[in-house]
Amino acid sequence: MEYRCVECGNAMKSLFVQYSPGNIRLMKCERCRAAADEYIECEIMIIVIDLILQKPKAYRHLLYNVLGPKSSYFEQGLLGKLSFGFLVLDGYRSLFIDRSREQLGLSTSFSSLLWRFQKLLMDVFLGNFIFLSTFLLATRIFLSASVGSLRYKEILPAILISSYFKLFLLAMMVWEFPSSVVFIIDLFVVSANTVALKVITESTTSRCVAICSCAHFMKFLVTQVLELRSS
Ligand SMILES: [Zn+2]
Repeated sequence: MEYRCVECGNAMKSLFVQYSPGNIRLMKCERCRAAADEYIECEIMIIVIDLILQKPKAYRHLLYNVLGPKSSYFEQGLLGKLSFGFLVLDGYRSLFIDRSREQLGLSTSFSSLLWRFQKLLMDVFLGNFIFLSTFLLATRIFLSASVGSLRYKEILPAILISSYFKLFLLAMMVWEFPSSVVFIIDLFVVSANTVALKVITESTTSRCVAICSCAHFMKFLVTQVLELRSS
């Protein structure tokens, strides 16, 4: 992957020139004439806030200029780590919802624990398999013309990275929250996935919203069916 101008997405050979340690000059984009990546000189908190505010330029900075410039995500071994973190957080989410539903009838027998474990695996692996399949299928249907050779190798890590809102689930280990907070986090994940997809594919917002909504809805449907079967 190459560097990108965070303002307009134009490809860049380099983002800054370094004259001496700590003395750099930001390169200007030839297309929009703005500094190609102003985040290079920003504090990390400003980048985090802009990511939370769903600004596409913050996503361009993260996806193109920080994580993917020199080699592909696959070569960096990043995809495995991202997938692992994603699945663990998803597993915790599933456990949290189960626990809040079954607080009254909590049983600790071996068969009950085994059954819960099976359900957790089904939720995480089947749910995400359906999520990913729907996502890739919807991408092919909605974006086949505009994405061209369909850069799945870039789309998949972008989706995993932009699901970072799931990290807020960790706060639930420390503080007590109502289970509805999980669904608010889910909404933020859908929104961040949409912005990341838009940045990577340079497609229209409505198509990206449609793809992300379809994929998340299918995953929700699968977990609900599993829930019904087990009750
Ligand atoms: Zn530009």
